[in-house]
Amino acid sequence: MIPFSEALDEVLARVAAMEREDVALGSALGRFLASNVKALSAMPRFDNSSVDGFGVRVSDLEGASSEHPVRLPVAGTVPAGSLWNGSLPPRAALKLMTGAPVPPEVEAVVMREDVDEASGAAAFRGPAEHGQNIRRRGGEYGVGALLLREGTKLTPPAVAVLASQGMARVSVHGRPRVQLVVTGSELALQGGLAAAQIYDSNGWGLEAAIRCLGIEDVRVTTCRDDPGEVRSALAAAIEEGDVVITSGGVSVGDFDFVPSAFESLGGRRRFWRVAIKPGKPNYFGEWEGASGRRTFLFGLPGNPVGALLSFERLVRPALLKLMGARELRPAALQARLTQAIHKAGGRLEFVRGILANTAEGAEVEPIAARESHMLVGLASANCLIAFPRDATRLEAGSLVDVELLAW
Ligand code: AMP
Ligand code: MG
Repeated sequence: MIPFSEALDEVLARVAAMEREDVALGSALGRFLASNVKALSAMPRFDNSSVDGFGVRVSDLEGASSEHPVRLPVAGTVPAGSLWNGSLPPRAALKLMTGAPVPPEVEAVVMREDVDEASGAAAFRGPAEHGQNIRRRGGEYGVGALLLREGTKLTPPAVAVLASQGMARVSVHGRPRVQLVVTGSELALQGGLAAAQIYDSNGWGLEAAIRCLGIEDVRVTTCRDDPGEVRSALAAAIEEGDVVITSGGVSVGDFDFVPSAFESLGGRRRFWRVAIKPGKPNYFGEWEGASGRRTFLFGLPGNPVGALLSFERLVRPALLKLMGARELRPAALQARLTQAIHKAGGRLEFVRGILANTAEGAEVEPIAARESHMLVGLASANCLIAFPRDATRLEAGSLVDVELLAW
């Protein structure tokens, strides 16, 4: 049994970002950048108005007040998207919409709300300051500035940044093809159940967790606890997957055939048991084909919470790394525990919790149903409390480490 941190380090040391590929901006959401993105043009591209208002020379409004407003004729109107062809006559104002280019003679823009407009003239009730309401060319960044770093996830704002630079395509890392092999002779698909059968929930839950990462190429197969069936299901999965994830059949029961089947196919074990709860029977191995092609195998426990949490804590970081992500670990924070929890020493336990923001700060309530088959509590949890390996008790009111669940 190896400690969780060693298991994760081992996994992350083995996997590397996949080849890059160019994708259209419209299908880049959720992908990870394969190179730094630098600015092709300055932002803003030209001086422009940040408000709907009136462009003026500052000296023209000197001494203006509510009692003695300054009236200037309006020389023209510039909508966003138009260039004002002409020069601003002396002692005149130019009506500018938000985003309209500001010509060089205009030194300030006064908000429309502060101006009284009547019969072709604008009355100003106060002076203006140089540069007010003008967004300067390059004010945010200049040509060549680093906008997004390699490994950044293309979130909606990141997609918008690329679009703002006119980039129609983007270089991202490839995504692994994932094969999910669900083992268990007791499992039934949707429909009727025979005696001693249960519905398969891991196949559905794990497939959903994989899809949450933006991986589309996922195939699920099921097989019974038969050495030949497990072996041929794994052989097919290895053939077609960059990553194979199995559910069940990985423990020490008489019908747990995943490790032996994988190794009989030439797979190499990297670790088997991890000191976590839930999820102790956890297998990680590598298979290398004649061409040097590699497939990683994650053998997850069959217990539903163990399966999903092992995925979350060990497989998810690996899939993210394959996809080229820079940030592999879940967001973490400290929160005050609402009630004491205890356990035996020896394994790091991920206790399902509900994190809430209260007037006293972040508080986390542990979910009472902590056993590894109790799935409903996981569905209501939004975080995991990391109950350290050798600790046996966490006191009510103490600060504990909490990791957010990202699905
Ligand atoms: P195993 O790891 O195969 O020994 O399974 C451990 C427990 O998880 C047993 O109670 C199984 O019935 C249950 N289990 C295994 N696979 C699934 C599955 N796909 N869906 C729901 N429960 C499962
Ligand atoms: Mg089983």
